[in-house]
Amino acid sequence: YYDVLIVGAGHAGAQAAITLRQLGFEGSVGMIGDEKDPPYERPPLSKEYFAGDKSFERILIRPAAFWAERNVDLLLGKRVKSVDPSGKFVTVGDTEIGYDKLIWCTGGAPRMLTCNGADAGNVHAVRRRADVDAMMAKLDSISHVTIVGGGYIGLEAAAVLTKFGKQVVLLEALDRVLARVAGEELSRFYEAEHRAHGVDLRTNAKMDCIEVQDGKAIAVLMADGDRIATDMVIVGIGIVPETGPLIAAGAVGGNGVDVDEYCRTSLPDIYAVGDCAAHANRFAGGATMRLESVQNANDQAKTAVAHIMGKEAPYDAVPWFWSNQYDLKLQTVGLSTGFDQTVLRGDPASRSFSVVYLKGGKVIALDCVNAVKDYVQGRAHVLSGATLDGAQLADASVPLKEVGL
Ligand code: FAD
Repeated sequence: YYDVLIVGAGHAGAQAAITLRQLGFEGSVGMIGDEKDPPYERPPLSKEYFAGDKSFERILIRPAAFWAERNVDLLLGKRVKSVDPSGKFVTVGDTEIGYDKLIWCTGGAPRMLTCNGADAGNVHAVRRRADVDAMMAKLDSISHVTIVGGGYIGLEAAAVLTKFGKQVVLLEALDRVLARVAGEELSRFYEAEHRAHGVDLRTNAKMDCIEVQDGKAIAVLMADGDRIATDMVIVGIGIVPETGPLIAAGAVGGNGVDVDEYCRTSLPDIYAVGDCAAHANRFAGGATMRLESVQNANDQAKTAVAHIMGKEAPYDAVPWFWSNQYDLKLQTVGLSTGFDQTVLRGDPASRSFSVVYLKGGKVIALDCVNAVKDYVQGRAHVLSGATLDGAQLADASVPLKEVGL
């Protein structure tokens, strides 16, 4: 039994435990995670850790000893298979673990391909340390890698692999990369960068299946008959939120488990936080959505813990995100979904520029490439929902903080 039981030892789970102790919570805290490691940062898995620039110790969210020092019981390598909201316990194997409050922080499982060959041994996802360790162990002996999916994870993996001198083919089914999260200017810029670094980046690329020999993928076969010989396939096509046990217990949800502004699910004393939590986000005009970002995991964890400790502070944090590819540091603030106008600040050819997204004349988001000042100064405009003049915004010689004054 724990006063607060956290399920999922990733970003959100770790932050929930940290915040409980920071705020002086004196009850017992347990954290169950199905990976074998204590909480670690996931973003480096497609960046510095994959590139070999950071060791695993350096991506731990807290040093391994921290958890015992703060009296947080880590129950690792264990998977919660069911939740009983009336008896107030979860089941791990044959063991029942009781709780007073439950915080569900399980993230998502990588969406995998469903075509023939998708289960071959050298078809990899990029979600967990174990995924990346398995790929790293093979890198020396391979030269051709096919990446399926032109989202941030696929693009970041492509950047690391070209640095290692691998021949990379990147397949995106839609007509541009990053289509789900960014406007066309950003997509085209990154497509050009990857091609300039030698990536064979193909949009409108429809896969048929994977050709397998001796249990290993040896080629990706395309719908148009093309055959791409490969030594490894990396799949980065999104996640499926890990909400099965909660939904089975009766929680309301669809794409994720639904939560209110305090991160409460529809089940009593059960909160959900992070990638698995569908919430109404003010920065998306109040639309219900899941956000897959460290910011959201951390801020929602703080919201849930505050509520558990009797403080009602609705979740209202401005979304932000980053991505590192080659020497390009992208920082985003706000949510661009639903924009009706974009303004380009600076010249993409200079490799330092921003895209400002507007909706009904109001600034809703910025994507800033090697443009830290725009990122820092643009935040206030997103927060205030400022109505700003496009021509003024486009003038990169005027600092963003002075636009609209
Ligand atoms: P997770 O961190 O995934 O933690 C969930 C944990 O719960 C996992 O360990 C999972 O195995 C475990 N679990 C699941 N089900 C159960 C169960 N039934 N019982 C026990 N344990 C369970 N975000 C950014 O903001 N910037 C970035 O640059 C960025 N890059 C990324 C790169 C990669 C390769 C990946 C995979 C993600 C990246 N993200 C990035 C997203 C970010 O990592 C996630 O939004 C964040 O990890 C969400 O935290 P979470 O706690 O909700 O889920």
